[in-house]
Amino acid sequence: MKAWVLREPAPVETQPLELREVDVPQPGEDEVLVRVSVCGICRTDLHVVEGELPPKKPNIVPGHQIVGVIERQGAKAGKYKVGERVGIPWLHRTDQTCAYCRSGRENLCDSPEFTGYTVNGGYAEYVAAPEDFIYPIPEGFPDLQAAPLLCAGIIGFRSLRLAGLPPQHANTARVGDPGLTSSMPGFNLGIYGFGAAGHVCLQVAQYWGAKVFVATRELKHQQLAQELGAVWAGGAKDTPPEKLDAAILFAPAGELVPPALAALKKGGTVVLGGIHMSDIPSFAYPLIYQERSIRSVANNTRQDGHDFLRLAAEIPIRTQVQVFPFEQANTALNALKHDGIRGAAVLQIFGLQPGGRAAL
Ligand SMILES: [Zn+2]
Ligand SMILES: [Zn+2]
Repeated sequence: MKAWVLREPAPVETQPLELREVDVPQPGEDEVLVRVSVCGICRTDLHVVEGELPPKKPNIVPGHQIVGVIERQGAKAGKYKVGERVGIPWLHRTDQTCAYCRSGRENLCDSPEFTGYTVNGGYAEYVAAPEDFIYPIPEGFPDLQAAPLLCAGIIGFRSLRLAGLPPQHANTARVGDPGLTSSMPGFNLGIYGFGAAGHVCLQVAQYWGAKVFVATRELKHQQLAQELGAVWAGGAKDTPPEKLDAAILFAPAGELVPPALAALKKGGTVVLGGIHMSDIPSFAYPLIYQERSIRSVANNTRQDGHDFLRLAAEIPIRTQVQVFPFEQANTALNALKHDGIRGAAVLQIFGLQPGGRAAL
């Protein structure tokens, strides 16, 4: 099969990914082999390719927002049928034995495996994954529109939960409970950086009744935010016109933490949604006093994924995608690095299901 292999981490402008002919992976006994239709491109892929995340596996194949169909199953796999459409996310496997897994926090697992980082991912024609860690894709989403839900969407959703949305129900509510929408009086959410995760996150927050304020340096990203219903969109360090209950940073820029803190109400939270970020500059204590807090988001639990996909279908979320042919993986990552993507970038691998193009 063909796969994009990382020669060695290097700036994406030097085209560090190489399209090679490699063996089709063999699914383990609890795994399925998936023929990849599309693979969403995430900023984490860029951090892997450029070496901002320490390399874990030589010649890794990146990609962890994979939509495809089951081609073959391991001896002990049988939850899905051959030919069924599934999504493969970042969380490839957790050990289920460490203290974090046993306390319902597998996102913090001591020995996790990650798709496209510690095991090969979806910038390839086939990928193998444990059946317990993949998701059925809700029917209303064509492959292209589904791909960004699998990381940008799920991580955005977990970020919203950590930001305190929906207010009375955070972390305990079954999403989709009737009544949630009417129970959020005046929650002001800031989103800093408006790409794949931001544009999904905004739609969920609005569905929950929050007012969304978007700070992002690119004019075209500000425009997309306004088209999607943001009450305000301004520059990355501009001050939103109202104080925020919470702010989520998707931009990997530590220098945005002080302005985001400054925009918060008392007791507000800044949630850092990325896996990597430039250094956070020091700041004066009054910025965080009055019980403001800063917290990061690390991965997600499978429950987050199932909850989010159900909600995404219910809303329904509309993802905006920019499609790149399989041959253009380096080009797509380069565009992402330089703020060139409106919404989410997706690599198209095998032929699309009917309707896949219609929604572009
Ligand atoms: Zn664990
Ligand atoms: Zn990701």
